[in-house]
Amino acid sequence: MANILGELVTYKDVVIIGAGGAGLMCAIEAGKRGRSVIIIEHNSDIGKKIRISGGGRCNFTNSQTKPDNYLSQNPHFAKSALARFTPEDFCRLVKNHQIPFHEKKLGQLFCDESSQNIIELLKKECVNYNVDILLETSVVQASFQDGLFCLSTSKGAYQSQSLVIATGGLSIPSLGATDFGYKIARQFNINVLPCRPALVPLTLKEKDLAVFKTLSGVSLDTIVTYEQASFRENILFTHKGLSGPAILQISSYWQPKKPIHINFIPELDMRQVLHEHRSETLLLGNFLKRHLPARLAEVLCDHFLGNKPLNRYSSEQLQQIGQRLNDWQFIPSGTEGYAKAEVTAGGIDTNELSSKTMEAKKVPGLFFIGEVVDVTGHLGGFNFQWAWASGFAAGQYA
Ligand SMILES: Cc1cc2nc3c(=O)[nH]c(=O)nc-3n(C[C@H](O)[C@H](O)[C@H](O)COP(=O)(O)OP(=O)(O)OC[C@H]3O[C@@H](n4cnc5c(N)ncnc54)[C@H](O)[C@@H]3O)c2cc1C
Repeated sequence: MANILGELVTYKDVVIIGAGGAGLMCAIEAGKRGRSVIIIEHNSDIGKKIRISGGGRCNFTNSQTKPDNYLSQNPHFAKSALARFTPEDFCRLVKNHQIPFHEKKLGQLFCDESSQNIIELLKKECVNYNVDILLETSVVQASFQDGLFCLSTSKGAYQSQSLVIATGGLSIPSLGATDFGYKIARQFNINVLPCRPALVPLTLKEKDLAVFKTLSGVSLDTIVTYEQASFRENILFTHKGLSGPAILQISSYWQPKKPIHINFIPELDMRQVLHEHRSETLLLGNFLKRHLPARLAEVLCDHFLGNKPLNRYSSEQLQQIGQRLNDWQFIPSGTEGYAKAEVTAGGIDTNELSSKTMEAKKVPGLFFIGEVVDVTGHLGGFNFQWAWASGFAAGQYA
């Protein structure tokens, strides 16, 4: 059959745009149901983010996944999909493919060898269920006519009953990220919530940077807090500001111009500790080196706290110093942006989608899955778990 442009049109039950974790999982599940499926991907290979994820070993899920590990304007939205495809379900698949894996910490499951193992798993499953994958193909236009979705692509025209948007977020444009999913949503009058880089390093103002960039490379265990959100993990000073797992986690919550709070010595109430040592003649800097990396202790003393013997500070001063060490406040100047963000927060408004099927309420047959949706996981394998779970959910209905 030819379309009005005279192009030959290929029919598929399901067309999926984007061959990342979500699109591939959806394709496999729809294929299992006997649906004819094609994935359209503009990169030269599938799963580019899977390949680089987890430092090349793909933190493919988290065994402790709970709905609380996700940010969304509707915190209940992800519950249904996460309950129907669990970390154990994905682990079963990984074990069936004899991929060795291990828990690194906090339920984070990584491949022992390489993230390429996960890509091969998904490729093999696609072959098993006759999923076609069209690489290096861009979508020129999408429309809905006579009950079918019509796609014009750089490699021909397609018609389908179901169209699944799995194009991910805006993070790391060099790996193929585009705003395609949001554009399609707007074309079909589906609301898109504002997007922002998340799981991203934070930058410091010039004044703070002048002091703290000398600590570039220093890392320490902390508790980082922003409003109600709090994470106990390492922070890392960088030449632009702050990074490390605790900072990446808090960046997903942080709003511009507001302070984040860092407890540099989470094990101890430093007001009490300094009070107990108030009569000692030891210099504050040397005392703090017992509890902090030496370079950080020096910078804090040189620029903020002074470096006198402990017995030369008043009780009130020691209380203030103790308080600051347990609650240091930074107002970041911004983030390092989409070029460095692991994910994109915001996106397709979940009020527009069925939480059971991921189908758009206004446009039957149109599905949105994965990172393009306003569901953003914490660091630690939760984002892939959402990709698998939302892909699985849509795959049962597309
Ligand atoms: C450096 C890095 C490390 C990460 N590590 C982890 C980790 O270890 N664990 C974890 O859980 N999460 C990790 N993440 C996050 C995780 O990679 C994403 O949340 C996940 O890949 C989202 O899956 P997705 O299928 O929704 O989107 P994506 O994986 O982004 O896939 C979308 C696909 O759509 C394609 N596409 C986009 N636009 C178009 C278009 N117009 N036409 C055709 N194709 C298009 C893209 O090329 C891409 O292949 C990491 C992210 C980054 C950047």
